[in-house]
Amino acid sequence: MKAIFFDLDGTLLHHTREYRNVLTDTFESVQGTANDEWIETYNEAFYELFSRCEPEPIRRAFSRIGDCSDPDALVEVLREKETEMYQPPENVHADLERLSGDYALGVLTNGVPEWQKHKLQTYDLNHHFDMVVVSYEAGAHKPDTAPYRMAEQRLPADSYAMIGDSETDIEGAQNAGWSAHRYHGEGFEGFPDAIEWK
Ligand SMILES: [Mg+2]
Repeated sequence: MKAIFFDLDGTLLHHTREYRNVLTDTFESVQGTANDEWIETYNEAFYELFSRCEPEPIRRAFSRIGDCSDPDALVEVLREKETEMYQPPENVHADLERLSGDYALGVLTNGVPEWQKHKLQTYDLNHHFDMVVVSYEAGAHKPDTAPYRMAEQRLPADSYAMIGDSETDIEGAQNAGWSAHRYHGEGFEGFPDAIEWK
């Protein structure tokens, strides 16, 4: 059997707003105000911690902001607001249901497991997939081949394809020897035909 892995953010879930605005809302909700310095400090710290797969990157990034008194509340509010900023493409359930008849289906996403799994659950997408691989579990993010190798181990198949909206999805898939399809928000009606299997 062939396996198709989907990216999550920007693919199975479409963005409806800028992440910066989500952060601003989060600060305003918890701190009563927001400013550019907090957002820059958070973004830099998060990126640094996330890149190295350090534990609790979100809470620790908020903790780097001297003026913010309640990192735990910021984490909780950001988690909800980040989840709410997405919307699944039209007909996603019918399309995944159809694909699951002939293919093993997985999710391969860069992120923190608890957060990514929370999004899948919120949008009732879990049950379509045989396997969910989150990069933190592999200790490296796409385009590193480590999460792809973990996906192969956890969901054995004859060949693999990756559908994702970022260059990192495609580059990583190619490095891992997978087929790859760049997703542009068109929905999944055209699959599996849109995949050019190697
Ligand atoms: Mg993406």
